[in-house]
Amino acid sequence: MIIVMQVGASEAQVEAVANVIRNKGLEALVMPGEGRTAIGIPASLNNDQRTDLEAQISAMEGVSRVTQTSHPYKLASREYSKESRVVKVKNVEIGGDAFVIMGGPCSVESLEQFRSSARVVKESGATILRGGAFKPRTSPYSFQGLAEEGLRIMKEVGDEFGLVTITEVMSGDMVPLVAQYADILQIGARSMQNFPLLIEAGKSGKPVFLKRGPSATIDEFLLAAEYVLSQGNPDVILCERGITAFDRQYTRNVLDLGIVPALKEYSHLPVIVDPSHGTGIARYVRPMAKAAMVSGADGVMIEMHPNPKEALSDGSQALTPEMFLSVIEDLKRLAPYVSRTM
Ligand code: PEP
Ligand code: MN
Repeated sequence: MIIVMQVGASEAQVEAVANVIRNKGLEALVMPGEGRTAIGIPASLNNDQRTDLEAQISAMEGVSRVTQTSHPYKLASREYSKESRVVKVKNVEIGGDAFVIMGGPCSVESLEQFRSSARVVKESGATILRGGAFKPRTSPYSFQGLAEEGLRIMKEVGDEFGLVTITEVMSGDMVPLVAQYADILQIGARSMQNFPLLIEAGKSGKPVFLKRGPSATIDEFLLAAEYVLSQGNPDVILCERGITAFDRQYTRNVLDLGIVPALKEYSHLPVIVDPSHGTGIARYVRPMAKAAMVSGADGVMIEMHPNPKEALSDGSQALTPEMFLSVIEDLKRLAPYVSRTM
């Protein structure tokens, strides 16, 4: 059960509701939200308890509505908000009618490399520029990113081209630094259950782009989102980027497009698909980006490099600028058939 308080409900009113719940021997999860507080009851209630509590709480001062959910996640659920969340970053809306493109290299490698990537992203009509400055690499001997220098380059180039920027933050203590430079904080797949990081990202006030862990279930994914939301940050963007494959000989991961309609049903948060990490192979990005659009995703994140052969990370999945532009053209042609604008 979720109790959504009215905007501006007082602390005393919230406490009074929580006490009614606690007096029945149940746990009350008080979750401050954007302008209003929600109170979740994580226990599964029987019919009598439910009717009884609902009647009692609905009548209390400061209560907006009482809704039922049997899911472990509350603020991330569709029951919490029937309306889909639209995340607004500068002039870009994620989760609205427009299908959003996030493009750019896996890593920020130099000012020159990032600037030529941004030029292509801009030319394509895409609105969000990606690029990693802190890279979560499987091996400690692989390129780890340019760190703060990479952030500086990203900000400079983002400003120059008028693009919204997104980059990964790998630990809680790095959130303030990354938030200083980037418009959107990316939480990588490997960090999806780094709970202290989720909490810090939640406190940052920046939109959080949460990638699904390589073996995360939907409940685990949405509970990770819940960590961010429960810090009072309503702007979480979910990203499907492929789950662990049992046959890695042909694709890097299994892009789970079936999760898109499921997430849309069970959550109100925007969903982005990353066909680059999802397949690991540049020539598979086009079909899977189109499939992502048809599946109901709100956008795609696509890796592109001015010269993929020389990329310091993820070169095999990076599109050339020509391929990138042509994939975006395909998506623009497809968009009206699924009622999206681009
Ligand atoms: C990335 O976006 O470059 C990245 C490392 O993604 P993931 O966390 O999905 O592997
Ligand atoms: Mn990458």
